[in-house]
Amino acid sequence: MEKKFRHIEQLVTGVQTSDGAGVRLTRVLTGKLQRRLDPFLMLDAFGSDVADDYIAGFPDHPHRGFETVTYMLAGRMRHKDSAGNEGLLDNGGVQWMTAGRGVIHSEMPEQIEGLMEGFQLWVNLPAKRKMMEPWYRDFAGAEIPEYVADNGIQVRVIAGNSHGVKGAVVRVDTEPLYLDVHMPAGASFEEELPHTHNAFIYVYRGEIELNGATVASGRMGILSNDADTVKLHASTDARLILVAGRPLNEPIVQYGPFVMNTQDEIHRALDDYRSGRLA
Ligand code: FE
Repeated sequence: MEKKFRHIEQLVTGVQTSDGAGVRLTRVLTGKLQRRLDPFLMLDAFGSDVADDYIAGFPDHPHRGFETVTYMLAGRMRHKDSAGNEGLLDNGGVQWMTAGRGVIHSEMPEQIEGLMEGFQLWVNLPAKRKMMEPWYRDFAGAEIPEYVADNGIQVRVIAGNSHGVKGAVVRVDTEPLYLDVHMPAGASFEEELPHTHNAFIYVYRGEIELNGATVASGRMGILSNDADTVKLHASTDARLILVAGRPLNEPIVQYGPFVMNTQDEIHRALDDYRSGRLA
């Protein structure tokens, strides 16, 4: 039988917005795609060499009920949180933070000029883990497992498993796969993705062909759930992230930085935050 590949179900152009104290960014995965891309709640892409676009950073703010994954392609950002963690995130580094029952943190640029580029992905937690103890880890660029395929493709495995290479982070509930794939022009790359897992690619350099469709730089392609394999072809030198995960299929109620299952739990989060009990 001929092998079936996933196709592009929908192409998404991000929305220009600003967050934190005025950081300009592109919100690629917005609220209306949370159900379709369960367990992923948000993807922001940031990239600018204009200091005014990022210098204000993200001063102290709370989170509850999910995980944030910050992947820094270029630039330096310092993180501090209410649990006493502090870390510097720079070129190629990843910060994985499980907010659980509550974290108050700041994410501030530690550069006053030059390029700052990267992504922040939000991964939901199942109901049974939303109130878990917070967890946090910084991975320097060199600590992210990577491999080079024979056609010169370089793959960095931030989470999950790819071609036998175990990523920096593994999660049992949502089984997130998070790859950064660098492809030379003309190369093809296949990855197994159980059809039940929701998945997307976001191209940030060059152009990718996928089962007859083209995904240009700055676009997200949502993958269909009708096959267990994705096959990417680089029509030019290209870079992209490939993200997939097992849906939780639980109610999603978001109020800003809190993502819970019910409105009641949101009220409790707000209460806890205002009364100093969140973190
Ligand atoms: Fe944050």
